[in-house]
Amino acid sequence: MSLLVIGSAAFDSVQTPSGEKRSKVMGGSGVYAAYAASFFTPVRLVSVVGGDWPDEFTRVLAQRQIGLEGLEIRPEGQTFSWTGKYLENMDDRETLDMQLNVMQGAYNPVVPESYRDSEFVFLANDPPASHLDLLSKLKRKPRLTVADTMDFYIHHEPDALRELLRQIDGLILNDSETRLLTGLQNTIAAARQILEMGPSFVVVKKGENGAFCLTRERIHLIPAFPSERVVDPTGAGDSFAGALMGTLAESGKSDPESIASAMARATVVASYCIEGFSLEQLERVTPGHIESRLAAFRNMITF
Ligand code: AMP
Repeated sequence: MSLLVIGSAAFDSVQTPSGEKRSKVMGGSGVYAAYAASFFTPVRLVSVVGGDWPDEFTRVLAQRQIGLEGLEIRPEGQTFSWTGKYLENMDDRETLDMQLNVMQGAYNPVVPESYRDSEFVFLANDPPASHLDLLSKLKRKPRLTVADTMDFYIHHEPDALRELLRQIDGLILNDSETRLLTGLQNTIAAARQILEMGPSFVVVKKGENGAFCLTRERIHLIPAFPSERVVDPTGAGDSFAGALMGTLAESGKSDPESIASAMARATVVASYCIEGFSLEQLERVTPGHIESRLAAFRNMITF
C-alpha cells in the first residue's frame, strides 16, 4: 500500500563538533521520511519548495520512485532553509537559523487528486495547520494517520497542534518534546498524558537511548543500533518515522504488535542515516544492507 508523506523539503546547513560542515545540502522532514519509507513501499510526497530548488535534488528523490506530483515548486519563492550545529555529544543541537520562506504561515500545499484516497498517512514535521489542511482534503479517514512535531510548533502553534492530536492515531516525537508538550519530566508519564490528548499510541525517540512505544495497554522498548561512526544526526528522527510508516504501509497493518516490530526496521534505517551528511549514506544503502543489519540487531537484543 502506498504511503502519503507531507513535510518540509529544505536546504540544510550543518556543523558537527569535528569541524566538518555542509552548506545547503538536501534535507527536510518530508524528504528524509519519504526517502526512508521508499525502501519498503511506494511513497507520495507532498511538499513546497521555491524556484531555487535544484533539479538534481528532485532527481535523487525520483530515482527511488518517490511520487513527486505533490512536490510543488513556487518559482517566485525561496525554499525553506535550516542551519544547525551539533554539540559534543552529537545528540543535542542548536538551531542557528531557520528561514520558513515558502512554508510561511498557512502555506496550504496542493494535494493531488490521485493522493486523496491514501490509507497510510505520515505528517512529518511541518506546521500543524498544514497537517490539518491536508487531512481535510482526503476523501475519507485514512486507516493510519501518524504525525511528528517539534519544539517550534509546540511553542508557536499550540491550538492547531491540540486539534491535530484529536485527529491522528499516533504521534512520534523526541523525549524533550514530550516534556515540552506536557510539562512532565518523566517521559513515560508524559507520553501517557499525550494519549489523553487523542492519539492511541505515542512513540518517543530518545536518541542513543533508543525509543519506546506507549499504548493504553502496553509499552514496547527498543534500543538504538550501536553506531560507532556518527557523522551527522540530522534526519535520524524523520528517517526513523518514515521507515516505521513505510514498513506498516507495506504490510497494510497498524496493530500494536506490527508497530512494535516496525520500530526495529526504523532503528536500522536511522542508523544508516547518521553515517553521512544529508542523504549521502542512505543513497548507498540497499534493501539487502538493511535486512542484514536488522539480522545483526536482532541477535544483539535477543535474550
Ligand atoms: P531531525 O534531525 O529528524 O529532527 O530532522 C531534521 C530535519 O528537519 C532537517 O532536515 C530540517 O530541514 C527539518 N526541519 C527543521 N526545522 C523544521 C521546521 N520548523 N519545520 C519543518 N522541518 C524542519
